[in-house]
Amino acid sequence: MTDSFSAALERSAALEARIAAAPDELRMLTGDRPTGSLHVGHYFGSIRNRLRLQEAGVEILQLIADYQVITDREVAGDIRGNVRNLLLDNLASGLDPARCTIFTHSAVPALNQLLLPFLSLVSVAELQRNPTVKDEAATAGITSISGLMLTYPVHQAADILFCKATVVPVGKDQLPHIEQTRVVARRFNERYGATFPEPGALLSEATNVLGTDGTKMSKSKGNVIELRMSADETAKKLKGAKTDSDRHITYDPEHRPEVANLLTIASMCEGTDPATIAEEIGDGGGGGLKKRVTEAVNTYFAPLRARRAELADDLGYVDGVLRQGNERANQIADATLAEVREAMGMSYP
Ligand code: ATP
Ligand code: MG
Repeated sequence: MTDSFSAALERSAALEARIAAAPDELRMLTGDRPTGSLHVGHYFGSIRNRLRLQEAGVEILQLIADYQVITDREVAGDIRGNVRNLLLDNLASGLDPARCTIFTHSAVPALNQLLLPFLSLVSVAELQRNPTVKDEAATAGITSISGLMLTYPVHQAADILFCKATVVPVGKDQLPHIEQTRVVARRFNERYGATFPEPGALLSEATNVLGTDGTKMSKSKGNVIELRMSADETAKKLKGAKTDSDRHITYDPEHRPEVANLLTIASMCEGTDPATIAEEIGDGGGGGLKKRVTEAVNTYFAPLRARRAELADDLGYVDGVLRQGNERANQIADATLAEVREAMGMSYP
């Protein structure tokens, strides 16, 4: 475990204590890119924490990061359709529009204006060092990194700081961006006076769920178990998942990452310890393991899938949730931008 990951785990544990003690003093912001539908990696990496925070009484802001789609690809795909997918996935998961603000990045101009002062606070060299930007560029097969891609972590700082969020439930890949956001907040406060809190990442027990090919499960890679899949589609997808040649199933994340990942998914669904599940499968091999995971996933997500199908029949309601969310996000962003302009000496009669 790296030092920075242990530090992030410690910070996440400290946040848990604040959530328990004073949830109404906290605000959550997190986001997904509308590049497809949400998958079990999102669910166990971030969504379960979103729901837990909502339940605890923390104010929730859920971003659909549409501008970020064009960071690592030339063809954005069906953005409008994917925005709907994300709305459906989040609502079916249990986000309650009465208690949370779901909004799209592009609909909030004042949020995006924060980018200008924030960009002045970071150096090109530190942006070039960001490991997630490098990984995502490599995954997308990009040889030349665009200005938008390079400044991705700074947009994310604007997303988080426009609403002065303090808690950001994310997977491991986002940690460098949260760190960059903390740096931006600190430098802004030093230069212009105390304005922004420094947010922290809230980590789950599944910070990096692997896909069927054994690499990070990602919408863009086709290695996903989507929340919306049918039971049959799930079975088919899991049948093709990578395992290894040892028929005796054991929980060994270091030496058997693919097998351990499937055990973790089953364990998150069933609420059973992964090592116990491994013992129960014993010599059942990859086939036995996949059968168990398929059953666990299909049982756990059946109610979500049913709710999603109902919501998909009521798109007027779903679109209304976004309209309302965008209005509220604009109010918050306008207030923050006014404060930022005042702090910078740029508010005029
Ligand atoms: P894309 O391929 O478009 O980048 P993605 O699957 O990586 O899609 P994002 O929209 O980039 O999804 O991520 C949304 C949130 O879900 C982030 O907080 C991210 O950390 C978390 N997340 C994404 N994939 C995983 C995963 N495999 N395990 C745990 N958390 C994840
Ligand atoms: Mg991603």
